[in-house]
Amino acid sequence: MRSAVETELFIGGKWVPASSGSRFDVLDPATGDTIASVADGTETDAIAAVDAAAAAGPAWAKTPPRVRAEVLRKAFELMTERAADLAKLISLENGKALVDAKGEVTYAAEFFRWFAEEAVRGEGSIATAPSGANKLLVVRQPVGVCVLVTPWNFPAAMATRKIGPALAAGCTVILKPASDTPLTALAMAAILAEAGVPEGVVNVLPSRSSGKVVSAMLHDPRVRKLSFTGSTEVGRILLAQAAENVVNTSMELGGNAPFLVFADADLDAAVDGAMIAKMRNGGEACTAANRFFVETTVADDFSRRLAQRMSALVVGPGTDEKTQVGPLVNEDTVAKVDSLVRSALDAGAEAITGGSRPGGPGFYYPPTVLTGVGPDSAILREEIFGPVAPIVTFTSEDEAIALANDTEYGLVAYVYTGDLSRGLRVSEAIEAGMVGVNRGLVSDPAAPFGGVKQSGIGREGGHEGLLEYLESKYIAVSW
Ligand code: NAP
Repeated sequence: MRSAVETELFIGGKWVPASSGSRFDVLDPATGDTIASVADGTETDAIAAVDAAAAAGPAWAKTPPRVRAEVLRKAFELMTERAADLAKLISLENGKALVDAKGEVTYAAEFFRWFAEEAVRGEGSIATAPSGANKLLVVRQPVGVCVLVTPWNFPAAMATRKIGPALAAGCTVILKPASDTPLTALAMAAILAEAGVPEGVVNVLPSRSSGKVVSAMLHDPRVRKLSFTGSTEVGRILLAQAAENVVNTSMELGGNAPFLVFADADLDAAVDGAMIAKMRNGGEACTAANRFFVETTVADDFSRRLAQRMSALVVGPGTDEKTQVGPLVNEDTVAKVDSLVRSALDAGAEAITGGSRPGGPGFYYPPTVLTGVGPDSAILREEIFGPVAPIVTFTSEDEAIALANDTEYGLVAYVYTGDLSRGLRVSEAIEAGMVGVNRGLVSDPAAPFGGVKQSGIGREGGHEGLLEYLESKYIAVSW
């Protein structure tokens, strides 16, 4: 696998070393050992990538939508053919269990298929002005050169969720992947080139100097769009930088998902849903259930059943077929999870399974369920990003809604109830961009994914995802 993946920068359709000649290491989270060394892009390389994307822009924008669609469709087919290798690569550099990595490849490839289908829906509109005097013609045009910045937790899917709609719309892109997981992005670049993406339309720029290279691109007036997925903290910095050149932005930021279980819910279904919402990707998902609010009368039963399921999970290296929970991505992530759990325990919570970091190599943390978590606990305010489920009880629907909304985040929420009208009423009252009713998984390439409040701006996937890469141009017409 190591030798099969290119490790240089991908600029203008060519694999090139960093202008500084420097490289950085990619680690295996299961051991902490180095698995590859990747070219470390500089600000000079970033501007070279903008040159390439800007040069390729006009021809790609004029390429017939059907042709752009077929390139994306081919990329979907190549990803599907190579799903097993891609999953191993994701698992190797990210640490996630193969079962999660395989799920990610399917999900990621689907964005290429979905946006291949959307690429040919080149809609606009025509209307008559209210005065009746003239016509209002609206056409849609590609935004232009886009900078795409992605996190390490879904190294394939977060890239395809941006590249798919950008290419469908006729934009050219520079992808800056997370430094922990650049190999998957480089493998995707090779697939896109093989699928027929012309030189310069997609450029991939791994870099350890993310702040500098992204800033250099955002200050280049040829860059017209930033699509960022990552933490709210970095999102704020990039929004401020984008403001300087008034760059169009889409922001997919952090989450703090509440998972509500009402006493009238099917508890078996709620526990199944909780396992998916919490443990998909080992808890390293922006959509991960971060706070469990359970109605008092069923709280003991739910907690016990969830703890049984969590303690039965097989923890091990992600690349081992038997593993259900791999290591977390890096030392900082596992240290943060450990410190959030310790502070909750110090404040009186009880770990009914898990709760302490094991010794030995690798960035492992055990599946953990905490009960008796205090309402002011940091673990309820911050993204845990690990396999830990804190449980808090409630006694009324109003209290559950208030607890769910007591956060600056608003990405996704989950509601389990046997009463569908309650499910829909609570969904409307919760401040989130997405709600799962009796479902522990909401992600679907055909649906608009995104958050409100400090979880972001804009949507990815669905038809909305394409619109993020298009500008509406109004042409006033008389005839
Ligand atoms: P992160 O630290 O914010 O990093 C995200 C990306 O931004 C990485 O490529 C990173 O590069 C880059 N970056 C870091 N500092 C930067 C700066 N000053 N200027 C420009 N770029 C910078 O997030 P992460 O730890 O990779 O990912 C986890 C976060 O992503 C969580 O908060 C999670 O909720 C969020 N997320 C959100 C969604 C969503 O759809 N809403 C989906 C997935 C993940 P380096 O790797 O080199 O630091």
